[in-house]
Amino acid sequence: MKLERVLQFTRSLMKKAIEPGDIAIDGTVGNGYDTVFLATLVGEAGHVFGFDVQDVAIKTTKERLRESHLLDRVTLYAHGHERLARTIDEKFTGKITAAVFNLGYLPGSDKTITTTPITTIAAIEQLLDIMAAGGIIVLVVYHGHEEGARERDALLKYVSQIDQEFAHVLQYQFVNQQNNPPFILAIEKK
Ligand code: SAH
Repeated sequence: MKLERVLQFTRSLMKKAIEPGDIAIDGTVGNGYDTVFLATLVGEAGHVFGFDVQDVAIKTTKERLRESHLLDRVTLYAHGHERLARTIDEKFTGKITAAVFNLGYLPGSDKTITTTPITTIAAIEQLLDIMAAGGIIVLVVYHGHEEGARERDALLKYVSQIDQEFAHVLQYQFVNQQNNPPFILAIEKK
């Protein structure tokens, strides 16, 4: 298939947004694959800040980063991304060029621990405030479960009303697939 799948498209956007030396955010580190990818893109001079409310996610990701010799360019926080602006030092304001959020619950883990509209939108608002012009936020929306469907509706409503003078907002979605596959919402700050 020539059309990029959701994971590929997310990575293409991250590659476009991030230059060596940049600051990137993993809003939901989960099993850590995106954290590793972001850490590779920011290079030795850059840095990644990662968030997850589950200790198991932080632990798995730390191990994965250590194995890839990338731990020194990543800081992980075992608390919610809704505390992002209070957590990341002001000296990084205007230097964040990319952020990724894989929403929903972590497969194979506690399905009741899932991202929620209020906290996800809080994180996006904070990011839009502190990130660089031209920075991109990618939200991978998993809406096949009940809370996910609620989050999808709230997010679509929220991102649709972001002023077009302030940001470009894109929805990337295969529309003829069964079983509610994930789709992307990408926000590029002007
Ligand atoms: N649905 C995706 C994986 C999502 S993982 C897939 O199938 O591939 C989502 C992660 O977000 C989980 O590890 C969960 O612990 C974390 N999470 C939930 N609420 C959060 C919050 N407020 N801040 C940061 N991470 C959160």
